[in-house]
Amino acid sequence: MSGPLLTVENLTKHYPLGAGFLKKPVSVVRAVEDVSFSVEAGETLCIVGESGCGKSTVARLLMRLVKPTGGRVLINGTDIAGLNNRELRAWRRRMQMVFQDPYSSLNPRLTAGQIITEPVENFERTSRKQRQALAADLLQKVGMSSEMMQRLPSGLSGGQRQRLGIARALSLNPSLIVLDEAVSALDVSVQAQILNLLVDLQQQMGIAFVFISHDLGVVEHIGHRVAVMYLGRIVELATCEALFAKPVHPYTEVLIAAAPVPDPTRVRLAVPMEGEVPSPINPPSGCAFHPRCPLAVECCRIEVPPLVPMADGRVVACHVRAPATGTPARPTAAGNDSLGPVVMSEPLSPDRGSRVHR
Ligand code: ADP
Ligand code: MG
Repeated sequence: MSGPLLTVENLTKHYPLGAGFLKKPVSVVRAVEDVSFSVEAGETLCIVGESGCGKSTVARLLMRLVKPTGGRVLINGTDIAGLNNRELRAWRRRMQMVFQDPYSSLNPRLTAGQIITEPVENFERTSRKQRQALAADLLQKVGMSSEMMQRLPSGLSGGQRQRLGIARALSLNPSLIVLDEAVSALDVSVQAQILNLLVDLQQQMGIAFVFISHDLGVVEHIGHRVAVMYLGRIVELATCEALFAKPVHPYTEVLIAAAPVPDPTRVRLAVPMEGEVPSPINPPSGCAFHPRCPLAVECCRIEVPPLVPMADGRVVACHVRAPATGTPARPTAAGNDSLGPVVMSEPLSPDRGSRVHR
């Protein structure tokens, strides 16, 4: 196989509001707008952004839990919209999802063993013995003892439940797992354990992850590349290293500055961000970030900035820092201060994000 495992092209999702029988929609929620990215086999692509930016909608579109308004999702170059039922079933084995709250996504009446072998049973006839062996193997893979097999979800800790959700996702040997805020509900120390588990599993099994989080501290630990979303659009996509070393989009910069710093030796700008994410029902004109952006100039209010490739391979949508015409993309090797810090007036709430201990 060549080319990326997953390719997303111009993915768009609009939810009509107030629509009903013989009723025209009153308005439209622009949850996802023109999102494109790809994921290589064995890679972790993170998607970050504040709540309401469309991250979960992207996850649902990838898993085909909702249909796109526009754009395509390709697996190994094949458009999933064009698959027949049999092909769709085969494809579903290869892509699995882990949700934020393992408690509500796990059937409370099934034992841990039943929960993790349930997906396999939907695809194959298996004997009791085979299922038990599989359950024991999967529990071991996620660092749980096979004694846990008979437990109900209510008898497990939050971290154990999330391990169970991961074991369940692994049961069909997928090529890709979409994790939507999968560690966000966990204590920081448990978060770090689960992240380490994911990294180990990826190394052993070569699985690709689409890892969705509002928490940049978490993303830094696990991501190979990071897509930053703002109001339904990707505003910057870069390698994890490049993004954290030198954010280019002002929104990325304030997000990073707002995240707690796990490494005390690293200097980060104390940049406060003002305001809230505007509504995707009536998004601001031009660059959706312009009302909150201290660098905004006239054209930011008028034109949606295109994603422009920079010298280091990242893409950025910003009229000021990544102009599509005129000034060539600035090399990032030019030194740490070449862009100058973004300074905003109002402080951001101090408890944003959470620290990852390693
Ligand atoms: P995130 O996961 O980044 O917090 P979501 O993808 O959940 O963001 O939501 C993006 C936007 O789409 C939000 O404004 C949300 O209210 C809206 N939205 C999500 N699902 C629906 C739906 N089924 N109907 C209408 N609006 C929706
Ligand atoms: Mg979400």
